[in-house]
Amino acid sequence: MERVIQETDNDAFSCKISAITKRYLPSSEQKKIGNYEHYEDIHLEFCKEIKSRSRRKYANITKACRHSLPVMNYGTYLRTVSIDLKLTQWLKNNLENPADKVQVINLGCGSDLRMMTFLASFPGVQWLDLDYKDVVTFKSTILRSNAKFRASLQIEGDLPEEPSSIENVITDRYQLLPCNVTDDEQLIPILKKYTDFSVPAVILTECVLCYLHESKASQLISTVTGLYKQGYWISYDPIGGSQTNDRFGSIMQDNLMESRQLSMPTLMVFNSEDKYKERFPGKSEIQTMWDYYQNHLEDSERQRLKTLQFLDEIEELQVIFSHYVICTTNWRI
Ligand code: SAM
Repeated sequence: MERVIQETDNDAFSCKISAITKRYLPSSEQKKIGNYEHYEDIHLEFCKEIKSRSRRKYANITKACRHSLPVMNYGTYLRTVSIDLKLTQWLKNNLENPADKVQVINLGCGSDLRMMTFLASFPGVQWLDLDYKDVVTFKSTILRSNAKFRASLQIEGDLPEEPSSIENVITDRYQLLPCNVTDDEQLIPILKKYTDFSVPAVILTECVLCYLHESKASQLISTVTGLYKQGYWISYDPIGGSQTNDRFGSIMQDNLMESRQLSMPTLMVFNSEDKYKERFPGKSEIQTMWDYYQNHLEDSERQRLKTLQFLDEIEELQVIFSHYVICTTNWRI
């Protein structure tokens, strides 16, 4: 099961590249509020490195780009933009003075390259990326072998000789480390060593909690929220739906199991906005991507999106995006 879960990172990254090459990302608002000038270059550079290392992963990306349906690109757009904007807002609020420090911990980071943009935009941020060893090794090998990534992340030391692989990246402001985040014996020592429990922390789980068993996910939430004095958790996931005639969750579960023997153990447990939000301690807010699309995008941005690809299935967007949520939780202990 671990291997199948790790593979989901390829889908996430392929979708991101598709949304970037089709000009969904970065959004107008991202460009207004942050340093997204090199966003496309960063992602295409990473793709180039994937091409030279894994034909299979690269084929996945090109296939996703060729066949990308508008609904997928809208989904990736909403997921990425909503997370980035919430993260930016929180960082701005918590980094008012030049001496302020915060840390971002991305649990199940996969190939996400968000740290590049945020480390460049916010000098007071420290960033920790964690994922399973194979995922981390692939990502760190690329980051440490590429001159542009080395420069932007300030990775020192000799360039590794190909085809050696490296299991981590450790710099002053950025660490990428292997860790099964549901195993406290691995997680807690890493958090103790590389983060500071008295410094405000943002925890990111983007399409990660949905793959964990209920008890493991709740243990992860209670472990992490029990460590940091002040924190903000941003979590993005699908929810199964709670209405009696809502078949979204069961169809999704069947499809995932049939096509790749993959399960989402809590899709039908935290199947509504209320249930999803209640799994977190502290003060939580939650919204569906449909709500985000309708109420948080400027009209001009919705118009811009419409020009990118022909989209006639607005009802389909509503059904799908009502089943994806972004939840944010503030806590203090
Ligand atoms: N968060 C990234 C993003 O949205 O681009 C990747 C999402 S991908 C769908 C799920 C990721 O979670 C995979 O990279 C997988 O390896 C990671 N993951 C799932 N369970 C994990 C665990 N117990 N420990 C570490 N990583 C985990």
